[in-house]
Amino acid sequence: MNLVQKIKKLNYKIIDCPSCKQHLRVPIRIGKTLRVTCSKCLLQFDVHFPDPFKQIVFKIKQLVVKIKKSNLITKIMYLAILLFIAFAIFQTFYHTQN
Ligand SMILES: [Zn+2]
Repeated sequence: MNLVQKIKKLNYKIIDCPSCKQHLRVPIRIGKTLRVTCSKCLLQFDVHFPDPFKQIVFKIKQLVVKIKKSNLITKIMYLAILLFIAFAIFQTFYHTQN
């Protein structure tokens, strides 16, 4: 398999037909929904490719809501973790600058 074939393979995803379990090769369209027709049973169904960036934003939003709803001890714990991460990033940045 050459490089071009490998890249082409990365742009496709193998999915199973929900009806007959036939393996179907679907081109990946990030953030879009594709209507797929099964080659075996001709069933039409939608395949959604979620945007990874949007998923991260959504996860962060969920976490913020979770923190807001949580009790004081959990809030302090999350804050400590966030401070630790911020400190770790700062340390890495500071050391690479000098
Ligand atoms: Zn099918």
